[in-house]
Amino acid sequence: MLNGELLPRGRQVDFTQLAPERWKPGFATPFNQRMIGRKVLITNEFGDWLLLEPEEFRSFIEGRPQPGEPLYDRLRNANFIARAVDVQMQAERWQRKKHYLFHGPTLHGFVLTQRCNHGCQYCHSSVVGMERTDTDMSIDVAERGVDLAFQSTASAITIEFQGGEPTANWDVLRHIVEYATRKNVEAKKILSFALVTNLSLMDDERLDFLLDHRVQICTSLDGPADLHNRIRIFKNGNSHELLVRWMKKINDRYREMGLDTNHYRVEALPTITRPSLARWKDIVDAFVAVGCRAIFLRKLDPFGFAAKSAKTLGYSMDEYLEFYANAVDYIIELNRQDVQVMERHAAIMLNKILVDEEPNYLDLRTPGGACVGQLGYAPDGGVYSSDEGRFVASMGDDMFKIGTVHDSYQNLMTNAATRALVMAGLNDTQPDCVTCVYKPWCGQQVEYNYKTQGSLHGHMRDSTWCKKHKSIFDYLMHKLESADERDMEMFRRWTTNRTLDHFIVQ
Ligand code: SF4
Repeated sequence: MLNGELLPRGRQVDFTQLAPERWKPGFATPFNQRMIGRKVLITNEFGDWLLLEPEEFRSFIEGRPQPGEPLYDRLRNANFIARAVDVQMQAERWQRKKHYLFHGPTLHGFVLTQRCNHGCQYCHSSVVGMERTDTDMSIDVAERGVDLAFQSTASAITIEFQGGEPTANWDVLRHIVEYATRKNVEAKKILSFALVTNLSLMDDERLDFLLDHRVQICTSLDGPADLHNRIRIFKNGNSHELLVRWMKKINDRYREMGLDTNHYRVEALPTITRPSLARWKDIVDAFVAVGCRAIFLRKLDPFGFAAKSAKTLGYSMDEYLEFYANAVDYIIELNRQDVQVMERHAAIMLNKILVDEEPNYLDLRTPGGACVGQLGYAPDGGVYSSDEGRFVASMGDDMFKIGTVHDSYQNLMTNAATRALVMAGLNDTQPDCVTCVYKPWCGQQVEYNYKTQGSLHGHMRDSTWCKKHKSIFDYLMHKLESADERDMEMFRRWTTNRTLDHFIVQ
C-alpha cells in the first residue's frame, strides 16, 4: 500500500497572509519555520522547537505574548523570546552538543583488503576476487595507521575493520587488535573495535578471539532469504543460512557471557535495493526474526559498484521515501503490539529533537564527519576523509585522499584538502540550510554532494541528500504532532542511548 498520505510533507509558511508592518523582529530569537499539517513548526539555533497554532504564530511574530500568558511561557521556556534568553547557559549547552569540535577523529576505518568471497550486486567497495592478495593491507601499513589513530586528540577511538571482507586478511586484523591493545596500556584511551563482516569466513577459533578481545560484530542482512541471496551473491553456499546461523551463535555466546541480550546482539544492516521496495514488511519481519532490535533502512549509495548497477537496483528518492514510511509505519505498529524494534534514522533524529542530545552520527552533524570525525585507511596506506572518500577513490578519483600513513597527524588534520572538506561540510555555508527549520539537527556529507552534484558544497535545493533528510524530519514531525502518550513513550524509548561498556577494551 504505497500512497502519498504515508509521507506527509511540510511546506513553507505563506507569509503573504501575515501583515509585515506588525512584525516585531527584536522580540524573537532568530528562528526558522515550516508548516506541519495545520501547525507551524519553529526552531532556533539552540535546537529548541515548538509547534504553534497559526494564530499563536501570528501573535509570536507580532511580539504580542505577555509574561504570565501560557504562550509567552512556552516561548520563553523554549528560548524564543530574545530578552529572556540566558546566554551563558545556552553557550554551555551549545558547547556540550558540539563536543565533537573539541577533539580529533573518533572513527578509524581500516580497509584490510579489497578481496571478498561475495559478489553483492550493489557493493560499494569495488571489491576484487579472493586470489588478489596483493590488495591486502600489510602489517607495516596497519601499524602506521594505528599509530596515527592513537595520535587523534579524541579520548575515545574506535578502530573499525572494513573491506572487501576484512576477515579475509585475518592475520592483519588480529595483529591490529593486539598491537592497539598493547599501545593502549600507555595511551589509556577509551578504545573499541568493530568488525563489519559477512560472517562467511567465521569459525570457532576466530569467534573466540573476537569475543575475548571485545570486538563488536556487525553484519549485512538484506531481508528474508530469497531477497538476501538474490542480491548478495555467494557462490560457495547459502549466504543467508550461514549468516543467520552465525548471528544466532554469537548472540548465544553473548548470553553465556552474562551480557544483557537486550543490548548486546549482532548488529545487522540492510541495503535497500529496487527489489526491496515492495518488501518493507518482509524486511522488518526478517530482522525481528533474527533478534534485531534496530533496523537502519539505508538508501543505496552512489558509490562503487552500486553506481554501475543503478539501472537494475536503483530507484528514485520518492520511491525510497515511500518505502521508508511504509516500513516505519509498520515498525510503529509492531511496537504498539509490544514488539520492541526501532529504525535508526528515526532514533538518531528523535534523539536530537526530543532529548537535546547530539548522538554524533557523522552524516547528520555540521561540519560533517569528513576528516574531523573519521579517517579511512586504505590497504596501500592512503588516508581518506572517510569510508565514502575511499569508495570514490576506488572509482579512480582521489579527491578525498588527504595523505598517507607516512604523513604526520598534524599534517593530515591541517592540510588544505582537509580544511576545504571541513568548510564544505558546514550547514551554515549552505544558502538553503541557513533558512531551514531542520538546520539545528541536520548535517552534510561532502562526498555525497561531490558524487551526486559534482561539487563539495552541492546545491541543497536539488539535492537528494537534502530531500531525504527533510522528508524524514517532516515524517517524524507529523508523527510527533499527532502522537498520543503511548506513542511518545515509544519514541522516547527509541532515544535511549546505552553505552555498550563491554566493548570498551580494558
Ligand atoms: S540539508 Fe536540507 S534538510 Fe538539511 S538543513 Fe539543509 S536544507 Fe534543511
